[in-house]
Order: sequence, then C-alpha cells, then structure tokens
Amino acid sequence: MGSYTDDFLSKLRNRISIDQVIDRLMIDIRQGKNLRRFRCPLCDRFHTATNSTTNLGRCFECQKNFNPIDLVMAATAYDFIGTVEFLKKHFLSRPTES
Ligand SMILES: [Zn+2]
Repeated sequence: MGSYTDDFLSKLRNRISIDQVIDRLMIDIRQGKNLRRFRCPLCDRFHTATNSTTNLGRCFECQKNFNPIDLVMAATAYDFIGTVEFLKKHFLSRPTES
C-alpha cells in the first residue's frame, strides 16, 4: 500500500505530537488539571486522555489507543494515504515550534 517506508511512518507516529494533531483537527477538548481530554471521534465522549510519553490518545469507553495516524483516520474521511499526506503537509513541511 503506497510507497511509504516504515521509517517514515514511525516518524509520523512518534514525532508529531498527538496534542497538536487534536488541535489541527479542531477536535473539542476539555483541559483538566493534569490531563487533557478530547472528544473521542468514535463515541463522542470525553472519557479520554492523551499521553505525551507514548504519544497516544486513549478512549476508555472504546478501549482504544489512537496514534496520530489512527486519530486522523477516525476523525476525518481520509483513507490511509490521505491521512499520511495530511500529516505530512501540516506537520512535516514546517519547522516545529519548541
Ligand atoms: Zn470512544
């Protein structure tokens, strides 16, 4: 499927912050004291959390982890290729702020 290397795909999963993906997708969030909840694109609930160490979003209702690729695919109508191109365009073509 496509010509993306594993290396490139793991860069998308690991180097693009899950929180930035949530912002870019304009997913509703609720900022708590220690954690940030987002509206799960599958069940529409906020029983979720993001983990900056693993760079995953988790929905406790769906019992599902989302990496940046999973999240874009769940929240948009993009297929896998469209998702990769979306992430590439928005996150890899400009220097990240730090
Ligand atoms: Zn869910």
